[in-house]
Amino acid sequence: MGVWQKELITGLLLFLAVSITGGMTGLFTPLVLVLALGMLMRQLYQVNRFERWIRTGGRAKYPKTSGVWEEIYYHVYRIKKNEKKRKKKLGKMVDQFRQSTEALPDAAIVLGANDEIEWANKAAREVFGLQQSDKGQRIPNLIRFPEFIRYLKSRNYSESVILPSPVNNRITLAVRIIAYGAGLRLLLAQDVTQLKKMERMRKDFVANVSHELRTPLTVLKGYLETLQDMDDGESPLLTTSFQQMQGQTERMQHLVDDLLLLTRLETQQKKTECVNVPALLSQICKEAETIHGNLPGRIELTLENDVNIMGEEQELRSAFTNLLGNALKYSPDNSVVKVRWYQSNDTIMLDIEDHGEGIAAVDIPRVTERFYRSEVKRIKKVGGTGLGLAIVKHVLMRHDAKLNITSELGKGSCFSCHFPVKRICN
Ligand code: ADP
Repeated sequence: MGVWQKELITGLLLFLAVSITGGMTGLFTPLVLVLALGMLMRQLYQVNRFERWIRTGGRAKYPKTSGVWEEIYYHVYRIKKNEKKRKKKLGKMVDQFRQSTEALPDAAIVLGANDEIEWANKAAREVFGLQQSDKGQRIPNLIRFPEFIRYLKSRNYSESVILPSPVNNRITLAVRIIAYGAGLRLLLAQDVTQLKKMERMRKDFVANVSHELRTPLTVLKGYLETLQDMDDGESPLLTTSFQQMQGQTERMQHLVDDLLLLTRLETQQKKTECVNVPALLSQICKEAETIHGNLPGRIELTLENDVNIMGEEQELRSAFTNLLGNALKYSPDNSVVKVRWYQSNDTIMLDIEDHGEGIAAVDIPRVTERFYRSEVKRIKKVGGTGLGLAIVKHVLMRHDAKLNITSELGKGSCFSCHFPVKRICN
């Protein structure tokens, strides 16, 4: 039998007993009143006991009781106990999370909506020189590098920013912000000192080797020319050997020149002047026709405007020459190569379009990598260094421009350079 039924039956029996006694003694009403008062007092006493127990947190074992009240005490006690267990588990999880983020080798800082520090791990305190008291401080007041402040304000966190550590400028950090939750951001900083050092070593090595190769190459080329002049053509083997040797030294010289140019693009400060691009393009097209010995009129130059660009003339010259050279090299001698300088919406564009062999879709994303040459070019031994488009990419990057390649095998390619309007000068 349930507790509620028991309670009801007890009440009914008591009422019955009081009614009978009341009927026999003629004191029905007073006795019923006494019974009701008694029951009310009993409930008040129980409510009071319950209130006292719950006021102290309800965690201690509940007082001894019976009936419905025992049930109530039992359920509340069980809920409280489960809650306590859950809290303990959650606390343990938070502790474990804290410990693991504290132990992270990378610096981690949680930023609030107003760039204030909400939490920082041990690595962050060390590498940024933060104190416990810096909690709540705005991060731009503590990390004052202009490039960091620009990055923080930009709200575009797709890439990381490279900074020296504010406490030790020999440490280089790659700082990245990740937005999450409602206005919260996680700042992660990784020590990339070693990586940057290796990169610098690679650049220095390539630059030094290329530079050192220049002198022996010049000497070799000089002697080869003399020997060729002395060749009377009596031995065909000797003549072809000289020709091949000259071809290979020229190829090596191109390689060295391209490598040195790439190194310069990576390391040198940008110089800018107002470059007359239409004049530059006219000159390059004229030169290309003579150098490549192409049929006159093979290059179709269209200058739709006379917009000039802020930049470095020599760099732009090598980028455009490379693109035009490729278009001529990778298309049949009797096909037209179109060069077009124009404006489309808020972009200044240079299109170099050929009707040549085209590039396979899988190769397109890779052609701007250093030394990348499609398999066909390697097998057919088509001349080239594989550095031309890497140079183009670097030059355009230094001019805030982008390279867009569209190509279809067997139909041709279009290499588009997109310059932002902010680069226009006249
Ligand atoms: P290179 O021309 O010296 O091999 P590049 O870096 O200039 O080196 O070009 C890389 C590769 O991209 C080339 O080997 C070629 O496969 C491909 N490529 C570049 N331009 C064109 C083009 N206009 N048409 C077809 N393929 C091209």
